[in-house]
Amino acid sequence: YPPDVTRNFSIIAHIDHGKSTLADRLLELTGTIKKGHGQPQYLDKLQVERERGITVKAQTATMFYNYMRENAEASCASPLAGRSYLLNLIDTPGHVDFSYEVSRSLAACQGVLLVVDAAQGVQAQTVANFYLAFEADLTIIPVINKIDQANAEPDRVKEQLKSLFDLDPKGALLTSAKTGEGLSKVLPAVVERIPSPKGLIASPLRMLLLDSHYDEYRGVICHVAVVDGMLRKGDKIASTATRQSYEVMDVGIMHPELTPTGLLLTGQVGYIVTGMRSTHEARVGDTLHHGQTSVTPLPGFKPAKHMVFAGVYPADGSDFEALSHAIERLTCNDASVSVTKETSGALGMGFRCGFLGLLHMDVFHQRLEQEYGAQVISTTPTVPYIFEYTDGSKITVQNPAMLSSQPGKRQTSAREPIVIATIVTPSEYVGGLITLCCERRGVQLEYNFIDSQRVLLKYKLPLREIVVDFYDELKSMTSGYASFDYEDAGYQEADLVKLDIMLNGQSVDALASIVHSSKAQYFGRKVVDKLRKVIERHMFDVAIQAVVGTRVVARETLSAMRKNVLAKCYGGDVSRKRKLLEKQKEGKKRMKRVGSVDLPQEAFHQLLQNK
Ligand code: GDP
Ligand code: MG
Repeated sequence: YPPDVTRNFSIIAHIDHGKSTLADRLLELTGTIKKGHGQPQYLDKLQVERERGITVKAQTATMFYNYMRENAEASCASPLAGRSYLLNLIDTPGHVDFSYEVSRSLAACQGVLLVVDAAQGVQAQTVANFYLAFEADLTIIPVINKIDQANAEPDRVKEQLKSLFDLDPKGALLTSAKTGEGLSKVLPAVVERIPSPKGLIASPLRMLLLDSHYDEYRGVICHVAVVDGMLRKGDKIASTATRQSYEVMDVGIMHPELTPTGLLLTGQVGYIVTGMRSTHEARVGDTLHHGQTSVTPLPGFKPAKHMVFAGVYPADGSDFEALSHAIERLTCNDASVSVTKETSGALGMGFRCGFLGLLHMDVFHQRLEQEYGAQVISTTPTVPYIFEYTDGSKITVQNPAMLSSQPGKRQTSAREPIVIATIVTPSEYVGGLITLCCERRGVQLEYNFIDSQRVLLKYKLPLREIVVDFYDELKSMTSGYASFDYEDAGYQEADLVKLDIMLNGQSVDALASIVHSSKAQYFGRKVVDKLRKVIERHMFDVAIQAVVGTRVVARETLSAMRKNVLAKCYGGDVSRKRKLLEKQKEGKKRMKRVGSVDLPQEAFHQLLQNK
């Protein structure tokens, strides 16, 4: 299969528009997987992916497709006809949090199928994904899916594609991945419209490392795209990034599981096994080449940028080892999470983790609990702030507790990450959404009707304002009808202050946050109120304060009261008395102590989950 009969493509779509189902159908059509193989969404391998209907890690699958036989309409005179094609379907994660992964998968493609739900139309992630493909100069084939639905309006979707993306409505395919309607047109369009890969077989080998995963039996498996030349089993290869060399012990394609082929040609996508010890050796975006030749590295990928940080602590302070082990195993397959150890006065030993975005963080927590059974407390997510001082020094703060006012150092500027948010909504909700964005310090950039009833809004928003509950608010405000996505837009100066939470004068490090000065009182009040409800009375007064510098912005006092468990005991039942005392002791263990004040474990859960 030389490059002229190879096609590399991805399917991109807003969540739930049918990307995985369409991928399944194409794999079935080509006999790559059996029909009704029992597990829908073949490419979504992780449990959390199935549950959330999103793809977390990009997967590839190779299909063989006979253009002539499968497509009765293809004329015999066509130069493409009568040939068997090698089609590589490279799955992309469904959310722009993962734009790092999306752009990796697109790097090996020449075209995409842009799937849009015929009833829901273009949504926020459709827009974001379109631009990723467009900027990568890929051929875009619009696929209007779910045309079997009663409320399908394919013509309206065509109008949106034209007005937003300038895509010719005549080029759109109409499909139902459910009933099978229109599916026979998809692969012929892939063969006809998507160009073949450009590389040269005669050139020295260059391949792009797309991804890697760890297999218990075979070790590190690298997914690669051969850009130039040819790779055979037994070849000696080297990395331009690490200068390490390896022997290729196995090479093949994903058809749909690891299928050895002994070689990979220019334009092909497959896997290699090289005896790498850990996935950290496999630098995504690295160029691999034959050991004896030197090559110009291929343009790599932008390294993952961590936009959201949270502390992750064992729910039971003593479980640090177990959590540590779980995190290590998980990051072995997800190099996009950054992990550093940290210690909190209130929560003990734990980790500060950096994520690409909100969904990435949620998925990580969910996997941690599901796949490794680790119970965790995570602190309120924060974003990386940059502070500059009069002496010219600059720090990036990933943990608000770390920001201390050092004597002799005066802050000259504070900057916070901002994003461009795209919201697509039915027009009746526009008013509410504009209010929401204003409250979150947003600046409107765009307000456009994309058809007669739907509006696309663009806002510049501080990332800090959307990391906690923006998405939930947006969904509940619009009964789930609005969609939302965002992209990184750099940094902007802001009037930021550290908000400390104090219990009887002791600050609770895990509850410190960095906020806009105009909102210090609002946030301070919120936390103080919550704390008042969850802290039990002590034998002394407990002052709960939210403090900025030396200024108290909110305060509550919990008056003293002796909690007497024995009051309920009538008479002299000694064993019952002892039991109760033991129970009280146990309860104490589950407390986190801040100075002289006990904070129940639950308090952290409730506070940090922002409920
Ligand atoms: P993804 O998030 O884009 O991967 O979407 P999925 O493939 O997981 O599909 C989301 C939901 O839509 C699933 O419940 C599918 O069964 C359903 N679905 C997919 N394609 C069609 C279709 O053509 N018609 C109908 N009625 N439902 C579909
Ligand atoms: Mg899916």
